[in-house]
Amino acid sequence: METSAQLDKFDLLKTFFGYDKFLPNQEEIINNVLAQKDTIAIMPTGGGKSLCFQLPALALEGTAIVISPLIALMKDQVDALKANGISAAFFNSSQPYDKQQQILKELQDESLKLLYVAPESLPQVNFILKSIKISLFAVDEAHCISSWGHDFRPAYTQLNSLKKQFSQVPIIALTATADRPTRVDIATQLTIPDAKTFIASFDRPNLYLDVRPGQNRNKQILNFLAKRGTQSGIIYCLSKKSTEKLAATLNSKGHKAQAYHAGLTSEERSNIQDNFLNDQTPIIVATIAFGMGIDKSNVRWVIHYNLPKNIEGYYQEIGRSGRDGLNAHTLLFYSLADVIMLRKFAEGTETETYQLAKLERMQQYAEALSCRRKALLGYFGEHITEDCGNCDICKTPPKYFDGTLIAQKICSAVARLQEQEALGMVLDVLRGAQNAQVFDKGYQNIKTFGAAKDISWRDLQQYAIQLLNQGVLQIYFHENGRLLLTPLAKKVLFEEKKVRLANIIQEVEKVKTERTPRKRADLFEKLKTLRLKLAQEISMPAYIIFSDAALEDMEH
Ligand code: ADP
Ligand code: MG
Repeated sequence: METSAQLDKFDLLKTFFGYDKFLPNQEEIINNVLAQKDTIAIMPTGGGKSLCFQLPALALEGTAIVISPLIALMKDQVDALKANGISAAFFNSSQPYDKQQQILKELQDESLKLLYVAPESLPQVNFILKSIKISLFAVDEAHCISSWGHDFRPAYTQLNSLKKQFSQVPIIALTATADRPTRVDIATQLTIPDAKTFIASFDRPNLYLDVRPGQNRNKQILNFLAKRGTQSGIIYCLSKKSTEKLAATLNSKGHKAQAYHAGLTSEERSNIQDNFLNDQTPIIVATIAFGMGIDKSNVRWVIHYNLPKNIEGYYQEIGRSGRDGLNAHTLLFYSLADVIMLRKFAEGTETETYQLAKLERMQQYAEALSCRRKALLGYFGEHITEDCGNCDICKTPPKYFDGTLIAQKICSAVARLQEQEALGMVLDVLRGAQNAQVFDKGYQNIKTFGAAKDISWRDLQQYAIQLLNQGVLQIYFHENGRLLLTPLAKKVLFEEKKVRLANIIQEVEKVKTERTPRKRADLFEKLKTLRLKLAQEISMPAYIIFSDAALEDMEH
């Protein structure tokens, strides 16, 4: 039997938003907010987070205050709400004084159901908030509160006083960043330790995950398209220039493609978008500027011409295909040249360490030797037990051996180091390395010191990466990339779960230490080619022969 509150909820959904049913997790989240409890909602982009506070804002008495980081986003959402007959407004520093005064008055009069505020502008409305009825606080893009996040916004840290000032008002924090440390950070910073956390699945089982070496990409793409008729698809490139070049190539081969990037006028861009949406132009060759707010259900494939900067971006971009639930093919071209270029972009920036760690994780995904979906979902903190059967690795698996013992050694080293150390130190400890960093911390006395002496550094590193990709270990990017154990690691340690590891091709070529930079560069190129050649020979998407860390190792 449905209670009247439930009826209200469905009425509101239909009347104001025009939907018949909730998307996964929306209803549970909304129930928690309606019960005036604190909530953390983690959903992938496009998962429908906005509704989780907009609907309760309508159902509850008072005004909902929405903290949102982007002025453009705020305006879009408020426009959409108004179009649905909901009284909403936004307040930020881009508005003229008169407009601001008008909004403050509406707020004071309690005539708004929702007010969107930039975190920096919160102090300006705060004095009014104390005198009116507030239904809830929604903190959108809540990962901005985490000081190590790529989107860190200092003003978000002031939100830590909300709970103190308005202890009776429920808070809902929303984000698409799902790793455990971020979640914990959000709860701590907002002082909502008892918040109920909802994590929607990030899985998109209808997307085929495919990674191939990046040589002869254009030819590979033409082969790929030859079998796909006029299906809609998106090709993401890193630079404006390459979008135009590739679009021209495709057109010259009889495909209908248009380039899209931030260098075009907004009119040109909206024309191209419309053509794509109406199936006039089936293929868009774009920079990452393309896609935000594009809601096309029948995109059948997405190609990454270049390696994305991080897994979040990659996930978002492949997620634009197969929205109708039908099969879609996603193809990532992986080349070390891209890695080198992306590294250069990151170097010297304020968040260099963080960006490089994320890039390395992206690279590891591309080089995965076990189910890619496991790796992808594991990255977002979601752990599946079965291989997906819908990725290139599942289709052509490498040779595996029972690596449970090795996995246990690595996990127990991480545990004994109290999850405080990054991969390099964990490996040093396992290998029993006699260096100053190890001795300074007294690690030579812990129990796993030297436990994997018999395995080469390089192989051990590969195994650890495989454990990351299998969701046994996780990287805490927020603090210099220390390693964490996942629930799966505990199962491995307690013999409840076996681990398969892929064989590592032993050192193929003895590389001598080379001191001159030019020769080093030559060497690097040679190894790169070798690695890619091997990757193709064994018909694997990519295969680590020498990780770049190992390369650096050789250089010293
Ligand atoms: P997020 O903030 O999680 O990225 P949005 O709130 O912007 O996602 O919603 C993404 C899309 O899903 C929007 O187009 C929105 O209108 C749509 N949407 C939200 N809830 C529903 C629903 N219950 N049924 C159908 N579509 C929905
Ligand atoms: Mg959103």
